[in-house]
This record gives sequence, structure tokens and C-alpha cells, in this order.
Amino acid sequence: MSTATENAAILLRESLASGRIHSGYLISGADDAPREAALEFARALACEGEDQRPCEACRSCRLSGEDGESIELDAEKGPYFRHIGDHADLYWVERGATDSQVRIKQIRELQAAINRASTEGGRRVAVVAEAELMNNAAQNALLRLLEEPPPETSVLLVATRASSLLATIRSRCIRVALPGEAVRNLRGGDEPEDVRDLVARLDAIHTLGMPQLLDWAEEFRGKREVTVQQVDEFLSISGDWLHERVLRAIREGRESVGGELEAYRTILSCRRELTRRNTNVQMTAEKTLFAIRSAVRT
Ligand SMILES: [Zn+2]
Repeated sequence: MSTATENAAILLRESLASGRIHSGYLISGADDAPREAALEFARALACEGEDQRPCEACRSCRLSGEDGESIELDAEKGPYFRHIGDHADLYWVERGATDSQVRIKQIRELQAAINRASTEGGRRVAVVAEAELMNNAAQNALLRLLEEPPPETSVLLVATRASSLLATIRSRCIRVALPGEAVRNLRGGDEPEDVRDLVARLDAIHTLGMPQLLDWAEEFRGKREVTVQQVDEFLSISGDWLHERVLRAIREGRESVGGELEAYRTILSCRRELTRRNTNVQMTAEKTLFAIRSAVRT
């Protein structure tokens, strides 16, 4: 396993260990790595074991590890999705065998199946492999599932590039970037000056006190149409900045990245808030700044 793959695996493990399972994950990267990571994570989420998950020994793991024949999907006639192994609560969606897209019909059928009661009594997980091949209609249908997920349900999206999905989808998912994706390299020198400035300010955020943070948030005052865009860009860069910091912490062997993950979750919820009409944009920026500041205190 490469370092970046290991790092992503650690991130996923951290979220398992903390018991805070999100309803949406977006796993991106080149080749088969994100598919394999999603498969492993889906099985781990359903596993009944205690420590190492998937444990490969419990009933859930035996079901999901069944190496059955791979059923060909068909967005018109069905089957619209398949299961992982023989596990009734683990779903797998991808484009039909002769199709070029993942279709809305498949997402709707998936949603209907998930909304039925969980058959194995545990968590339900749906993997949408080739998520970037969903057309807009399918993505919007999926959005509804991400917005109001049934309890104990997670959706894992697999994509080569996260940026190929609608922003509304991305903002509802925890991002896991595996190697090979054109991840935004904040320090690569290709970024425009205002991005580099922002990164430098974030690097120094641990030196700022409450009044300076409030001043910073004040910069996002003004016409709503403008400030919503600005804050969204600010949240996006802050998220990448935190992600970079988490990977560095893991490389340096720091045991917990709980503070950063907490701040990351705040950013996700702030991005969701921004899509609402009555959100106070400046306050959203403030909340994010405070969350990052408190994550980097130590
Ligand atoms: Zn197990």
C-alpha cells in the first residue's frame, strides 16, 4: 500500500473507531484504489466484529465476502443494482453493462430498497461506483438520499475526480482522496495569489485571538451574492488545508486527529448552511474560523 492509500485507510478507520459514521463519503482516486477502499469500508461498516473490521469471521463478513458471480446491471430492465457478496444490506451500483451512464432509475430503485427495513439488523451501506458517470438527474436523486438519509445508512461515492460531481453532492460528503486524483495542491505554486495568501493566513491562525478572528470574518460582509461565493471558496480551501494537516499528522505519527476531524465536520455543516437562503454568511465564516482555531490550538 502506498503512503497515501494508508493515510486514507487511517482516516476511514478513525471514523469507524470514533463511532461517528457519516452518511456520505466521497472516495476519489485513480484506477481501482477507490473502488477497493469503498468495498473494504462498506464491509467494515457492516461488520459485527470489535477491533479489526472487516473481521472476516462474523456472519456479516461471511455474507459480504461471498465471491458470487458478478451480475450484470441494466438501467432499463434491471437488475438496477447488486449486493456485495450475499449481504442484503450492502448495495453496489454502477452503470449497466452496455450503458455509459449511471441512471436515475438505478438511484431511485436503490433508494426504495434502502428505505425498506434493514434485513440484517445492522448498518446499510450503498456504494455508487463510477459516481461521476451519474447524469445530473441521477445526482439530484442521490442528493435527496444524502440530505435525508434513513437511520444507520451510509452512501459511499467512488469517483476518479471529486470535482466531477455536483457541488451540492460534494458538500454533503466526507472527502477521502486517494493517490492519483488531481488533488488541489495548496502549496504547488499553481494556485492564484489570493489562494496562496489564504493558505499563509491559515498557517498562522494559531497566533490569532478572538478579536482578530472576528475581524477576519468581517471581511465577508457585503452583498450576499458575492459573499456566499467568497465564503464557499474560503470553506473549500480551509477544508483542503485541514485535510493536508491531517495527513501530515498521521505521517508524523500523531495519535489522534480528532480536533481536525471535528473542524472538518463543522466546515461540512457550514457548506450546507450556505445553500440555505436565510443563512448569515459572515456568521458561517466565523464559525469555521473558530472551529479551525480550536483544532490547531495544540
Ligand atoms: Zn466481521
